[in-house]
Amino acid sequence: MTAVVRDTGERATLPPFTDEHEQLRETIDRWVRTEVAPHVDEWEAAREFPRELYTRAAELGFLGLKYPVELGGQGGDYVHDAVWAEQLAAAGASGGVGAGLGAHTGIATPPVYRFGSPDQHERFLRPAIAGRKIAALGITEPGAGSDVASIRTEARKVPGGYVVNGAKTFITNGVRADFLVCAVKTTPDGGHQGISFLILEREMPGYEVSRKLEKMGWHSSDTGELSFSDVEVPDENLLGEENRGFYLIMENFAWERLLMALGAVGAMRRLLDIAISYAGEREAFGRPIGGFQAIRHKIAEAGVKAEVGRALTYHALRRFVAGEKQAASTAAGVGSAPSALRLPTIADVTKAKLYTQRACVEVADEVLQILGGYGYMREYGVERALRDARLGPIGGGTEEVMKEILGRQLGL
Ligand SMILES: Cc1cc2nc3c(=O)[nH]c(=O)nc-3n(C[C@H](O)[C@H](O)[C@H](O)COP(=O)(O)OP(=O)(O)OC[C@H]3O[C@@H](n4cnc5c(N)ncnc54)[C@H](O)[C@@H]3O)c2cc1C
Repeated sequence: MTAVVRDTGERATLPPFTDEHEQLRETIDRWVRTEVAPHVDEWEAAREFPRELYTRAAELGFLGLKYPVELGGQGGDYVHDAVWAEQLAAAGASGGVGAGLGAHTGIATPPVYRFGSPDQHERFLRPAIAGRKIAALGITEPGAGSDVASIRTEARKVPGGYVVNGAKTFITNGVRADFLVCAVKTTPDGGHQGISFLILEREMPGYEVSRKLEKMGWHSSDTGELSFSDVEVPDENLLGEENRGFYLIMENFAWERLLMALGAVGAMRRLLDIAISYAGEREAFGRPIGGFQAIRHKIAEAGVKAEVGRALTYHALRRFVAGEKQAASTAAGVGSAPSALRLPTIADVTKAKLYTQRACVEVADEVLQILGGYGYMREYGVERALRDARLGPIGGGTEEVMKEILGRQLGL
């Protein structure tokens, strides 16, 4: 089976974008350039973009691209969502807007769709697709990031549900999320096998936003620290099977990392355009700075990084989509157990995530240098791009952890 998935991915011609995907790209591009990008500076200064952006994005169908029409979605596929992630960045939506919308569509709602019951689809996914409820994913804790198995938020079983105590940190959308797809320990000494997911709702007594965190970039997205004191969560909010949450995390990570890679690909494309146009216009010593070999070479190198990142990422996307199709045709699809069919893509996704996140930081830094003093100023958005990009090698699994995964894949 595994070999079939690999072949399907490898033999696919160009990236799996059809005309329909390209039309979507144009629609997203237009929306970002007219309704998002002009407000980015204001939202960055306010430290949040308006909540209405979710309802507007929902109106245009962007929050439900890959979800079924019966749930209010567009009935599309993962490639539609891939276009969404890449084009938000390429059109200049800023890291903060990309993160806030992306955490909702890309990391918090997918597990509700995949592992959720019909009742959970109705209560959480449908309103999330409509932009009426904002979603967040809560895995990281003050004492546990990369080492997911060591989370300490505890869910004690009681008749009819669970009592949750603990804390989460660095949660994107954490401050205004209406529900949190939350990793908890249901078997305290169970390691990986002791993790489950509960959907916590903001109005549940004992659920508190303890802090909105200040950060280097992504200013318009909210990043929250949450605490739970004896939060009573009913059984019907258990997502997937008890003690099987680690598989949910692993599956979710693959898509999250691919989305981050796509975001970096979009961001690098945008930065390159800025650099090329600036180098053609800005003059020094009687000629455009693009006429200096030093500047030309920087741009050439940035262009190669952007292309390599794109090739790796589209390759991983092809593999991912092929694996999803195979899994859907052989398993039950929604709510099915994590499938070995999806596993071959992990190495490809890991490589794409690892390479693109560091490349994007380097490209942003070089482009800032090309713009000289203007690069350091707010108005060109390049200093923001650099600050935003710096999260890439940390979030969604650090670059050191990516290298560990790849090292193990090589048998080390
Ligand atoms: C802006 C932002 C938004 C985020 N959004 C979310 C969110 O929505 N939901 C969520 O759950 N989390 C979120 N995170 C958390 C993010 O996923 C973690 O920060 C990340 O997984 C790393 O965990 P950590 O910060 O605890 O670092 P640690 O795990 O403490 O790592 C510290 C350092 O040690 C290194 N290290 C750790 N283990 C190893 C190892 N085995 N080998 C080599 N080096 C190692 C790391 O690479 C890193 O350099 C967000 C983080 C940020 C900054």
